Amino acid sequence: MQHHQARKRFGQNFLHDEGVIHQIVRAIDPQPTDKLIEIGPGMSALTQPLTQAVDQLTVIEIDRDLVAFLERKYRPEQLQIISADVLTVDFSQFGSGLRIVGNLPYNISSPLLFHLMQYADQVLDQHFMLQKEVIDRMVAQPGDAAYGRLSVMLQSRYRMVKLFDVGPEAFDPAPKVTSAVVRMRPLKADRLQAKDEAVFAQVVAKAFSQRRKMLRRVLADWAPQINWEAVGIDPTARAEQVSLAQYIALSDALTPLLA
Ligand code: SAM
Repeated sequence: MQHHQARKRFGQNFLHDEGVIHQIVRAIDPQPTDKLIEIGPGMSALTQPLTQAVDQLTVIEIDRDLVAFLERKYRPEQLQIISADVLTVDFSQFGSGLRIVGNLPYNISSPLLFHLMQYADQVLDQHFMLQKEVIDRMVAQPGDAAYGRLSVMLQSRYRMVKLFDVGPEAFDPAPKVTSAVVRMRPLKADRLQAKDEAVFAQVVAKAFSQRRKMLRRVLADWAPQINWEAVGIDPTARAEQVSLAQYIALSDALTPLLA
């Protein structure tokens, strides 16, 4: 399997830098009884040290050739292999206390982060390698250039910390961009929460459809009767200046009007 031709459509950039591999495994800090799930094991750069650290590991891989490679390399009691597109996998089947990890395919990073958000209640933590620029968006604060829908939605559900950057030379083939590793921990049940999560998601998506326009204008046909002062938002504010708490207040004010 030395010569697996990396498939661009599956976002395949394989880690080969042993130092980086160990840095990621150290950040995950796997324990024997962890319920660990790896997304996109590829040629097992992370899988190999992880199998040595935990009793049971589950991996989800879309590329059938790589699935066949993993089936040859590992015994079923060492590694449970799910041959599937992770975006179609129902994580409720795995129960709770999950630790999810992966050097993720960059072409599906946003849809995957949103897919996993549905299962946040079952998750202990997530450690992902992503494009650095995506992680910057995840952790951005109001007023930052990278602040957007991804920041608000993920921050409503997770506490996130960027751990370290990883240069392109750690991968084969080398990607054009710098990568980074992020740790995500779901917030507890007492988190600040919108009354209706679906309305909140709609409001945030609409707000950032025109991030530099005044929010009041972007939402004008939806919410002409919103009292901006009452929800604590400056009526001249643009989407990119409004905080998570303010989006939740706005969504709660809109919920009865949109019902
Ligand atoms: N973990 C390996 C490493 O670090 O070298 C491979 C990382 S590579 C960036 C991404 C991996 O995710 C590849 O093995 C690719 O085939 C797999 N992949 C891509 N899209 C996927 C999907 N939708 N579902 C599951 N796996 C996927």
